[in-house]
Amino acid sequence: MPEKFDVVVVGAGPSGLAAAYKLAEAGLKVIVIERGEFPGAKNVMGGIIYKKPTEAVFPEIFKEAPVERPIIEQRYYFLTDTAKIGFSYRNPRYKEDISGYSVFRAKFDRFLAKKVQEKGALLITETVVEDLIVKDGKVKGVVAGRKEGEILADVVVLAEGAHSLLAQKYGYQKPIPPQNLAVAVKEVIGLPATVIEDRFNIESGEGVAIELFGKATAGMVGTAFIYTNQNSLSIGVGALMSDLIKRRISPNDLIEAFKNHPAIKPLVKDGEVKEYLAHLIPEGGYKGIPKLYGDGIVIVGDAGMLVNSIHREGSNLAITSGVLAAKAIVRAASQGDFSANTLKVYEDYLRESFIMKDLEKYKNAKEFLEQNHDLMTTYPDMMDEAFFELFMVDGVPKRDKFKAIKEKAFSKRSFWQMVKDAYGLWKGMI
Ligand code: FAD
Repeated sequence: MPEKFDVVVVGAGPSGLAAAYKLAEAGLKVIVIERGEFPGAKNVMGGIIYKKPTEAVFPEIFKEAPVERPIIEQRYYFLTDTAKIGFSYRNPRYKEDISGYSVFRAKFDRFLAKKVQEKGALLITETVVEDLIVKDGKVKGVVAGRKEGEILADVVVLAEGAHSLLAQKYGYQKPIPPQNLAVAVKEVIGLPATVIEDRFNIESGEGVAIELFGKATAGMVGTAFIYTNQNSLSIGVGALMSDLIKRRISPNDLIEAFKNHPAIKPLVKDGEVKEYLAHLIPEGGYKGIPKLYGDGIVIVGDAGMLVNSIHREGSNLAITSGVLAAKAIVRAASQGDFSANTLKVYEDYLRESFIMKDLEKYKNAKEFLEQNHDLMTTYPDMMDEAFFELFMVDGVPKRDKFKAIKEKAFSKRSFWQMVKDAYGLWKGMI
């Protein structure tokens, strides 16, 4: 006879762990099944974990959690073939009122999982959930890839991440088209802490996050990033799978080109590549969100396409969706009814939260960028040429310089085209 739990959670990433923590806290009998050797072993993030949304679930966790550096400065750069144009915001107040820390998921998720176990949830690792048990259209449990692998449950929480195979198999999520997935590659480059602090103009106990666009992704829809860890940099590039296919560029070529860009090379110089990782990022946004509940099932985190790429937010949406799913399940348990009709309150909770509000706000952003690829390179190139001329002290009168800059700019984009671009950008992104 298969063992019965109140809830089976598939996947021990932040969404599954947050759900399991809250469910166990409410006294439900919970099992978390993770295919990796340990939670975090298979997970990739840039990665910045956000303090407030994480602490809202796991109180005071950052007193002991394994984190790298609190981020006190955020830089945004556009790269052209040779130049870097950007702005930054730095404020030491972020040291007292911390927004995010650079982390390694392999350490961080493992630590979170311990807290979940301490709450009473059972965790089994190195076990793939191969299938769901479905009877009369109702989810009744899972089939784990081990001997006597059937496990029954009132509710299954699908927290399987971007590669949402089970959600797709049972029709909650349609097969995800390549324009709704990004492929990201990341390297961890070892450098002494003092070298990192010199190169990034920070002190011990301070960190910087840099997001890069334009030629950083060869003009494809995506971003590159550099985050400072204690003794290493996390550096990566991600672009829409559809763009990578169309341009026949491999993610590996992309990261090599990025590391060799004249603005990036000095930052990574003499570093030793310690890790190379690749992962998918769900990019469907609001319009790509699948059905998030059914009879005896809820879908959380990346598996539910709950990622806000414009703001580099994924882990916080994962954690919060896990908590809201748990709230819906606890309510369903109090009524003894785990039907879709009862569990659909999860979607209402999501709509009331920042998750759906933010995703809805950016619902047109990806399409705008996809339809206007050249914006990511045309404007940075125009600015590059303009600044180069402007900062070149060569005896040419400034009036002539501005005239030449204007003429060059309008030869690339008409005035009305620029107005249209600005309007599209405003509507789609702001
Ligand atoms: P995941 O973290 O992917 O966890 C899913 C888990 O399920 C995994 O442990 C996996 O092994 C397990 N699993 C899958 N299938 C099965 C199965 N059948 N049986 C058992 N176990 C299974 N977000 C941020 O907030 N900040 C960042 O800086 C950031 N940077 C990123 C950079 C990159 C390169 C990438 C790829 C993502 C980044 N994200 C970032 C997004 C963030 O990583 C995700 O949004 C977040 O990890 C989603 O959590 P999750 O629990 O839903 O899924």
